[in-house]
Amino acid sequence: MSGPVEDYAEIREEVAKLCAAFPGEYWQKLEHDNTYPAEFVAALTQAGYLAALIPEEYGGSGLPLSAAAAILEEIQRSGCNGGACHAQMYIMGTILRHGSQAQKQRYLPEIAAGRQRLQAFGVTEPGSGTDTSSIKTFATRDGDHYVVNGQKIWTSRAEHSDLMLLLARTTSKENAVKRTDGLSVFIVDMQEARKAGMTIRPIRTMMNHSTTEVFFDNVRIPAENLVGEEGKGFRYILSGMNAERILIAAECVGDAKWFIKKSSDYARERVVFGRPIGQNQGVQFPIARAYAQMKAADLLVRDACRRYEEGENCGEEANIAKLMAADASWAAAEACVQTHGGFAFAEEYDVERKFRETRLYQVAPISTNLILSYIAEHVLGMPRSY
Ligand SMILES: Cc1cc2nc3c(=O)[nH]c(=O)nc-3n(C[C@H](O)[C@H](O)[C@H](O)COP(=O)(O)OP(=O)(O)OC[C@H]3O[C@@H](n4cnc5c(N)ncnc54)[C@H](O)[C@@H]3O)c2cc1C
Repeated sequence: MSGPVEDYAEIREEVAKLCAAFPGEYWQKLEHDNTYPAEFVAALTQAGYLAALIPEEYGGSGLPLSAAAAILEEIQRSGCNGGACHAQMYIMGTILRHGSQAQKQRYLPEIAAGRQRLQAFGVTEPGSGTDTSSIKTFATRDGDHYVVNGQKIWTSRAEHSDLMLLLARTTSKENAVKRTDGLSVFIVDMQEARKAGMTIRPIRTMMNHSTTEVFFDNVRIPAENLVGEEGKGFRYILSGMNAERILIAAECVGDAKWFIKKSSDYARERVVFGRPIGQNQGVQFPIARAYAQMKAADLLVRDACRRYEEGENCGEEANIAKLMAADASWAAAEACVQTHGGFAFAEEYDVERKFRETRLYQVAPISTNLILSYIAEHVLGMPRSY
């Protein structure tokens, strides 16, 4: 076993500086106006953070996953929301690992330079969330194109993305040898598709997440936009999921840090019955427990990063890091609300906003139950439960 992953103190400091220009009022106003944090995402793009994982030969910084984790953790710790753009960091990995040389040359430098945004990831459908192999969106080959019909749901940032990575069936589940065969990945040019059969409908959610439903009505996609081999898309998507889980776990650690600082600061300052509320163990202990949970989750994230970077199979570590970090951020969120009492519910404190934002990570991109099923089946060797 090699040593711990680097901490990236300088990157964290720079990210924190950038985030300081986007305080709570900025995020509160976005929620009021129901708009996307375009300026924040532009600033991150300009500083090169969203291209952290793109290799230098394609114009990115070629940093390891632990650097991307540090960036996202710091964004959340600063009270900002990386959910607006985090997907760009990891979905490009599918093109990098499985795309053709021509696709890499065409898209990665554009993404790295911020001229094209790859923010949309079209996997989930109304009839298949957790059960990805049951998706129905179908791409039929027609000469040098594929014709796509179907519907996606929860396609976040679709209105703010130039490209979408789309998972569609190219062979029906019934005709596929294995249920996970016959799925293919495509790069969709959103502007072209919107002119010719793609419709995007926003979904209002409990937090400002710019998520949408996307409808495909005979949308023609050039065959050259197929990533890798037809029918092998499930494997390509799976190969990116460990990175996604580790990065989301890092975001949860960042959220937990934000909640813990906010709570302990408030507990020291708020005086009730003539003494700081933080003098009461009933107030201290939930915050102290959340801190211990966050520290444990942080170690798990770092361990998962290390294994990922060493090219080891890190399914167990990535899943457990995501589970424990999402639990830690939720425990910290809960303690923060309780510590603030009534003021937790006032928008100007940002506690209620962050509380809503961090709740998502128990459900998406993978729910807690499915991680537990993974551990039960793949780590502990118990029978598959579904
Ligand atoms: C705000 C938001 C943004 C999202 N962004 C994207 C995106 O950009 N792209 C994208 O493709 N998807 C996105 N998703 C979708 C997300 O990945 C799914 O919501 C998630 O995978 C769960 O799927 P589902 O909602 O269909 O739940 P379901 O699959 O219907 O599950 C419902 C509940 O049942 C539980 N459950 C289901 N099966 C089992 C089982 N066998 N054992 C135990 N429990 C089970 C689940 O854990 C869950 O709690 C987003 C979702 C949200 C809410």
